[in-house]
Amino acid sequence: DTVPIVHVLERMTQKFMQVAKEKQVSLKFVSDLPEDTIISLDEDRIEQVLTNLIDNALRHTPEEGTVTVSLTNELSYAKISVSDTGIGIPSEDLPYVFERFYKADKARTRAKGGTGLGLAIARNIVEAHEGNIKVESVEKEGTTFTFYLPM
Ligand code: ATP
Ligand code: MG
Repeated sequence: DTVPIVHVLERMTQKFMQVAKEKQVSLKFVSDLPEDTIISLDEDRIEQVLTNLIDNALRHTPEEGTVTVSLTNELSYAKISVSDTGIGIPSEDLPYVFERFYKADKARTRAKGGTGLGLAIARNIVEAHEGNIKVESVEKEGTTFTFYLPM
């Protein structure tokens, strides 16, 4: 299907606004693409990717932090990022975050629930769209997940 990507991201950000408020985390959406930009994608699946990335970001960001969803284009790709000012991921763990059942600090994250499948599924979905997904993170500073979808 062809979907208006700006609206999809706006709506997904809005979906988490109440959770963010309760956590006293500032949640924003920024875009420099025209409102009427459409791209071809499986909307339900891409919403699943965004739900996991935003949920992860909010769960790993303490009070007073910020989570930013951003949209721009790079060559012929839509570039979508979910960036947080949270606890970060240890650099030695970064190569494994997209593997099934990976969880940083097992004891802590187990208490917070979640199976550790979200990012493995996200990567599968993005790759099925002929896109790719990457992570950048600095411990105690924050994390950015970025994925690219062909326009
Ligand atoms: P679920 O299957 O419900 O999504 P999960 O959130 O634990 O469970 P993933 O979404 O795959 O699983 O994330 C894997 C692990 O990566 C998390 O448990 C967490 O340790 C780490 N992680 C993911 N996103 C972030 C983030 N934004 N900041 C810090 N750590 C993160
Ligand atoms: Mg998750």
